[in-house]
Amino acid sequence: MIKEELWQAVLAQVQLNISQANFATWFKDTGIVSFKDGEIMVSVPNSFAKEWLENKYGKTIFKILYNLDKEIKEIKYSVGKSELKTLKRVQVSVPTAGQLDFEEFKVDKETNLNPRYTFENFIVGSFNELAHAAALAVAKKPGLVYNPLFVYGGVGVGKTHLLQSIGNAVIKNSPQKKVSYIAAEKFTAGVVSSIKNHSMENFKTKYRAIDILILDDVQFLAGKEKTQEEFFHTFNSLYENNKQIILSSDRPPKAIPALTERLRSRFEGGMIGDIGYPDYETRVAILKAKSQEKGVNFPDDILDYVATNIQRNIRELEGALNRLIAYQQINKQLPNLEVAKSLLRSLFLSPNKVANPKKIIQVVAEFYDLKERDILSISRKKEVVKPRQIAMFLLREVLKSSYPFIGRKFGGKDHTTAIHACEKIARELGNDENLTNELDLIRQRVFSV
Ligand code: ADP
Ligand code: MG
Repeated sequence: MIKEELWQAVLAQVQLNISQANFATWFKDTGIVSFKDGEIMVSVPNSFAKEWLENKYGKTIFKILYNLDKEIKEIKYSVGKSELKTLKRVQVSVPTAGQLDFEEFKVDKETNLNPRYTFENFIVGSFNELAHAAALAVAKKPGLVYNPLFVYGGVGVGKTHLLQSIGNAVIKNSPQKKVSYIAAEKFTAGVVSSIKNHSMENFKTKYRAIDILILDDVQFLAGKEKTQEEFFHTFNSLYENNKQIILSSDRPPKAIPALTERLRSRFEGGMIGDIGYPDYETRVAILKAKSQEKGVNFPDDILDYVATNIQRNIRELEGALNRLIAYQQINKQLPNLEVAKSLLRSLFLSPNKVANPKKIIQVVAEFYDLKERDILSISRKKEVVKPRQIAMFLLREVLKSSYPFIGRKFGGKDHTTAIHACEKIARELGNDENLTNELDLIRQRVFSV
C-alpha cells in the first residue's frame, strides 16, 4: 500500500469509531508525509492536534497501521501544513447507516407508507410465520378476513415492516383504496391539536374515509383517555363499514395498561399474531439476504459472529451489517473477522457490561491528569471541580445511577450537589464545543474494552 492509501485506511476506520465532531476536529488536514525504515511520519496542522493524536489516538492509529503493514514500527507526528499541500486531499466519506438504508425510498405523503417495506423482502421464519400469514391474508382481502389484525412483538422484530407491507401490497393491487399508516403517538398528537384548534370534525371525517387504517405502536395510547375515546369511535365506524384496521403493539392487548375495557375488547376481537425472536438460522438468513441486496457477500464466519451476538433485534442486525458494508465500500475489500470484531465491538456491549462507576472515575481522572482520590475528594480547586462534575454527569448518563448514589460516591455529598453537577454539565454541553469533544473522548474510553 502506498502512504496515501494507508492513511485513507486509518481515516476510514477511525471515522467509524468516533463522532463526526471529533473526527473533523482532530483528523482534518492530516496525512502521511513519509514512510521509511518502518517509521511513519504523520503531518498534522497544529501542535494541539499533534498532542491529541499522539496521546489519545496514538495507540489506535498504530494498531490500524500495523494491521495493514507489519513493517511499521513507529509513528511520529510533526506539525507542518505546507508539506501536506503536495498530498492529494483524501476524500473519506463514510455512508451513515441512514444513507445506506435504501436511500432511494421516500415515504409517500398520502399514505405515510415507506415503499421499502414489502412482503417480498420480509423474511419468514418460525418466529414470525403466523403473523406473516395473517398479514398476507389481510392484504389479499382487506376488511374481510381478520378485523382487526393485531400484531405484537418486541423492539425491532419487524412489526412496522409487516404492517406497512400490507399497506403497500393493497395499494399495488388496488390503487383506488385509501390506505393510511400512522404511528399511535402521531394519532394522539392529532387528537390533541384538533381539540385545541376546534377542528375535531375534520379530524373525524379524515379518518372515517379511510379503507385501510394502520395504527402502529398502540401501546402509546395507554392512559390517553381522550385519544382512546376518539379512536374507539373511529374504529367502530371503520369496522361497521368493513374497512380494515391493522394494529401493532409491543405487547398483547391485555397487557397494555390503562386501556379502556371497550377498546381492549375491540383489539381482541379479530386476529392476534405475535412475532417472537428469530432463531440463529433465520438471523443468518436475514443477514445473507440483506447483504446480497446491497451487493456484498460476507464470509460465513462474519455472519456467524454477528448472528451469535445479536439475538433479539433485527434492526440491530441491520445496523451491524451497515457498519461492515461501510467498511467494505471505503476500503474496497471485505473486512476479515478480526476487523469485523473491532468494528462491531461497541455495538455488542451493553453500557453496564463495560462501564461501572470505578471505571468512569478512573477514565475521567486519567483524562484530566488527576488522581482518582482528587476526583472523589471534597477539594474545591477549579481543576478538580469540573472533572468531578463530569464524572458525576457520566455516572448519571451512562449508568443511570441515582442522585443519592452519585452524591454518596463523591465524598458523601448531598443528592442536590449531584443534581446540580449533572445539570450544569448538561447545560454547558449545549454551548461548549470543547467540552462536547472532551466528553466524546471520555465516553469512548469508558466504552473501550
Ligand atoms: P419493529 O416495528 O418491530 O420495532 P421494524 O419493523 O421497524 O421493527 O424492523 C426493524 C428493521 O428490521 C427494519 O429495517 C426491517 O426492515 C427489518 N426487518 C424486521 N423484520 C424483518 C424480516 N422478517 N425480514 C427482513 N427485514 C426485517
Ligand atoms: Mg415499529
